[in-house]
Amino acid sequence: MKKRIAILGAGESGTGAAVLAKMKGMETFVSDMSAIKPQYKDLLNKYDIPWEEGKHTEEQILNADEVVKSPGIPDEAPMVKKIKERGIPVISEIELAGRYTDAKMICITGSNGKTTTTSLIYHIFRQAGLNVGLAGNIGRSLALQVALEKHDYYIIELSSFQLDNMYNFRAHIAVLMNITPDHLDRYGGEMQNYVDAKFRILQNQTEEDAFVFWNDDPIIRRELERYGITAHLCPFAEAKEQGLVAYTEEDKVCFTHPISFNMEQEELALTGVHNLYNSMAAGISAGIAGIRKEDIRRALGTFQGVEHRLEKVCRVKGVEYINDSKATNVNSCWYALQSMKMPTVLILGGKDKGNDYNEIKELVRQKCKALIYMGLHNEKLHQAFDDMGLPVCDVQSMADAVEAAYRMSSPGDTVLLSPCCASFDLFTSYEDRGRQFKECVRKL
Ligand code: ADP
Repeated sequence: MKKRIAILGAGESGTGAAVLAKMKGMETFVSDMSAIKPQYKDLLNKYDIPWEEGKHTEEQILNADEVVKSPGIPDEAPMVKKIKERGIPVISEIELAGRYTDAKMICITGSNGKTTTTSLIYHIFRQAGLNVGLAGNIGRSLALQVALEKHDYYIIELSSFQLDNMYNFRAHIAVLMNITPDHLDRYGGEMQNYVDAKFRILQNQTEEDAFVFWNDDPIIRRELERYGITAHLCPFAEAKEQGLVAYTEEDKVCFTHPISFNMEQEELALTGVHNLYNSMAAGISAGIAGIRKEDIRRALGTFQGVEHRLEKVCRVKGVEYINDSKATNVNSCWYALQSMKMPTVLILGGKDKGNDYNEIKELVRQKCKALIYMGLHNEKLHQAFDDMGLPVCDVQSMADAVEAAYRMSSPGDTVLLSPCCASFDLFTSYEDRGRQFKECVRKL
């Protein structure tokens, strides 16, 4: 009998999983509670895969042998609960795809820096002429690429939600950037559940595999002792220390393993301490894959950066405008502020995921000359920062935020959008928020 597979969620990952499952001869059904985007409907129709939208038909789902769940659907969703009650295994699209490829998997996770590091690694591999695919939270789904293309390497950005439903998947190189509180709303408010999800990136690794991680992260350090890690350890940090495979010394970034080389920090295309870590993680991963040091050095120096991550927009009347809309938590704003060299007008606010603003108070004191609170509920921001005596301004649209920033800044200053919050109160996504910022700035 044909294996029956039901796929919940028909976005990039769900439709990719459906095409792969169908091509592997499974009886495939796709169900989405919301409307399915036209391009995904076309793809499903092209492969003759039955689908439904705006509902979940239980009879069609609960008779499956296995369910692929999109990472956006929480475990508490009634349909997911029913599937689990029936004992039907629930896996992620990455887990499914991993079963059908022998490619080398380079997987990146962490609370911050995933997309930047993933894109940077992909850039180095491509520049070195390797046959490489980009997948996970960015790019096209891994499943679709495994179904339709054949790459030797995949560089995969993994969120904790994707890791939640991975069981046998093996990362040949696992990169863990950092762990700071995020998404606790989806982990029952329990930090340890979130930490455990991140550490799933290491499950199934063997001693032939590598674990690349930031050595100064207190949570990673603590967990390392708890987990018996079999993979080859590749720690990196800013200050030189015994055992590190990348560190800085004077003005150089030094890589010691598996190939040894140095480069001037100034040569790195991405700036700021957080990007130094991202560059180190990428350089180590590329070295492990056997890429030559000349190629790594060149690619680390030519990377163009990723939209909405400390993206320079333009300079208006001597003021630099920077779009860091992707800073959706306090920690990423901390790094953004830390890299500011000029007096900064900070635009922050939005949908707060349980933020503790004390973490950035000291940096706000050092770097900021004014604050613009942009959100439907700014009370918490007032409570956190008003006692510092900086000029503040409340706004509820991007146009007003940019207008206020223009008024409150003077030549030589920087205006930084680094909101610490999700965007859903005033915008459809962080991309929408970042694009509106850029448009308003360009109209000044
Ligand atoms: P993610 O994909 O994990 O959300 P991104 O690369 O998109 O990470 O970066 C998100 C935000 O986090 C950016 O705005 C940036 O300022 C900050 N950031 C990037 N790399 C790091 C890092 N290694 N540590 C802390 N913050 C970072």
